[in-house]
Amino acid sequence: MTSTKNVSTDDPAALGSKMHALCAQLYPICRSITGNGVRQTLDILSDIVDLEQYEIPSGKKVFDWTVPKEWNCDDAYIEGPDGRRVVDLKDHSLHVVSYSTAVDGVFDLATLDRHLHSLPDQPAAIPYRTSYYDEAWGFCLTDEQRRALEPGEYRVRIDSRHTDGSLTYGEVFLPGRTDEEILITTHICHPSLANDNLSGIAVATFLARHFASRLADLHYGIRIVFIPGTIGAITWLAENPERHSNIVGGLVLSGIGDSGPLTYKKSRRGDGLIDKLLPEVMLRENIAHEIKDYIPYGYDERQFCSPGLNLPMGCLMRTPFGEYPEYHSSGDNLDFISAAQLSESLAAVVKVLEAAQLERRYENLQPDCEPQLGRRGLYAAIGGDNDQKQSQMAILWMLAYSDGRHTVGDIAGMSGISSADLDLAAQRLVDTGLLAPLRYAGG
Ligand code: ZN
Repeated sequence: MTSTKNVSTDDPAALGSKMHALCAQLYPICRSITGNGVRQTLDILSDIVDLEQYEIPSGKKVFDWTVPKEWNCDDAYIEGPDGRRVVDLKDHSLHVVSYSTAVDGVFDLATLDRHLHSLPDQPAAIPYRTSYYDEAWGFCLTDEQRRALEPGEYRVRIDSRHTDGSLTYGEVFLPGRTDEEILITTHICHPSLANDNLSGIAVATFLARHFASRLADLHYGIRIVFIPGTIGAITWLAENPERHSNIVGGLVLSGIGDSGPLTYKKSRRGDGLIDKLLPEVMLRENIAHEIKDYIPYGYDERQFCSPGLNLPMGCLMRTPFGEYPEYHSSGDNLDFISAAQLSESLAAVVKVLEAAQLERRYENLQPDCEPQLGRRGLYAAIGGDNDQKQSQMAILWMLAYSDGRHTVGDIAGMSGISSADLDLAAQRLVDTGLLAPLRYAGG
């Protein structure tokens, strides 16, 4: 069998189905902010893209936080008075409170009930609950299940362990021609929740696969990071301080598989590459969307946009989190997301990142009169073939407008020459010392 790793197909329907199938494969895994669920998830992604896994030890200080102990839970169940299992982690990974302490005992119903979580307003849904920073144990179940519990003695077991281990995150890096880069992140810490977690993971993975087969087109590198929410973002930022100033723009991908329109929440500073381009691309491509200003509440953009770092990272969602009743419950399942929405989200992000690659500027290092092209081997004799004329024109346009103000995208628009041809011209001019690429931040 030939490997399809890093090979991208452009058929949107097929891509949508593959992303939905990936969500289905990842759905049952009991993920948390640390532990084997995260590793198992990253291992599956490694079958699709070349992904590096990083392990940051428990106890390490990361800004104002500490990398927590590793949590793993092999089994969790409640047995009713008749000995039958009424709640079982094997049926649904939401049944155990994430990060729950271990328990093994017999409790009466009143005592057990203090450790149960359900949603009276949505009696058929299992809620998602976590207890990362409080030592507690608990189960989540449907309100229908909870109401059916008879008085009596319940055998309760949660076979979980908090150990000195590590926090795991994954990273795909696709190098560009400069050290500046675009950062894409998605959280990987939720158990069986499809939109809030798996949709971002699937789109980020297939985004990596798309650009992995187009490395020659990349001016800005693309770094795609799969991290546990909040503590993972904080850890990544603490572990990679040298990267901060190279980030020209980026996106936190989150909740992008549901049927709502794409919603872009701008970065705090509002002037990053993606802040500028995303609204333009959505309008140009006629993609239904909403743009929101930054608020300090939401996903990992909170960390990237904290005032000391102030990175140009926005957040791309569909229906904003908390604004759909299925949010953080078993209603956010594989039927809540669709292949078509995943495919549309991926296509939109691809278009934005393609446009971002054209947002590069050069400086003409011989701007006073035309430089002498002939002695540099850059002058094609008049009457040469059309290809030669085109590459000649591309050289002239690049020299004429590389004033630090115009981007390659601007020059393509003015000249009618493709950005690929302008790019080739730019490379030849850089090689002969006539042009120098400018940093985005300094451009
Ligand atoms: Zn969430």
